[in-house]
Amino acid sequence: MTALYPPDRLGRAQRAAAEAGLDALLLTPGADLRYLTGYVAMPLERLTCLVVPATGDPLLVVPLLERPAALASPVGRLGIEVLGWAEADDPFALVADRLRAALGRPSGPVGLANRMWAEHALRLQAALSRDTRSPASGGAGQITLAGPVMRELRIRKSAAEVAALRRAGQAIDRVHDRIAEWLRVGRTEAEVGRDIADAIVAEGHVRADFVIVGSGPNGASPHHELSGRVIEAADAVVVDIGGTTAEGYCSDETRTYVVGGEPDPEFARYYAVLRQAQDAACAAIKPGATCESIDAAARDVIADAGYGEYFVHRTGHGIGLEGHEDPYLVAGNTEALEPGMAFSVEPGIYLPGRHGARIEDICVCTEEGGERLNLVRRDLIILD
Ligand code: ZN
Ligand code: ZN
Repeated sequence: MTALYPPDRLGRAQRAAAEAGLDALLLTPGADLRYLTGYVAMPLERLTCLVVPATGDPLLVVPLLERPAALASPVGRLGIEVLGWAEADDPFALVADRLRAALGRPSGPVGLANRMWAEHALRLQAALSRDTRSPASGGAGQITLAGPVMRELRIRKSAAEVAALRRAGQAIDRVHDRIAEWLRVGRTEAEVGRDIADAIVAEGHVRADFVIVGSGPNGASPHHELSGRVIEAADAVVVDIGGTTAEGYCSDETRTYVVGGEPDPEFARYYAVLRQAQDAACAAIKPGATCESIDAAARDVIADAGYGEYFVHRTGHGIGLEGHEDPYLVAGNTEALEPGMAFSVEPGIYLPGRHGARIEDICVCTEEGGERLNLVRRDLIILD
């Protein structure tokens, strides 16, 4: 766990906050807090907040009853103060007071975790603006997002993180490898989905984050989840599944299967196009290639075959401690890939009312090019 959550991250976050002109990052439970400390905190109405001042000592403010759990987590070996607040205390004032003490002055701009609950964000904002006692210079202008600072730290995965993503990829590969146990004509999507969710946990995740089983026409809706539809002979079925491992890293893999007979000839035709498109995008991954160029590599193949209007979403999203994070592989994103960036490559073709297909692998950019972390076969699989 030390390799996965190295203790130097807090210092790096402090320097990055200072460079961004922020006096502090305030991080409530979520991926940013876990990234910096290894602490998997429960999001609760009671405030848990990691205070990362640009200068001075970081501090973890937790409800008193959560303090033993916090100390038992990797936070315990970071050597930072873990301050428990009692039920009658005002934790928002506590954060403001301690931040002022760490800085030696009232705080200027502060970055809040992007996914902080609004009820916490507004109360922190109120406490901080009381602290400055200057409504003209304080108030809303003092609050911004921590995301731009945190993304720069998180976007390039360490070797330990890539290894953790690889283990997550292998875990979800094992679930797809077992698909014939559950995906059969006559069963409903919901029945198949329940079995898959159980297998996601059994094969090495602490939870299933999503299970999409889109059969027949439902496969043409990219984010269809589960329904009571009974799977029919010769249906194409989009199976997009993922979970989170104990290490905190996410899996996400899609395969499209055909069940109980030969598919519609048009499906077979565009499935072959889709495979080429997904291969082309994976082959285009290398340091310096832009995010939008990977999207274009897939999209051009699909458009050239006449299916461009049926590829209705971006080609991929970053993945790590969150299932969707930077970088996004989408037209307009000119950010260059760098070694360590990890993301999905998941083109799809969807014919409304008929059927659809998607092929998705998690890939990591290495010095040499792209490496797929999902290895389940991608040719058209026809199950009995
Ligand atoms: Zn997916
Ligand atoms: Zn995905």
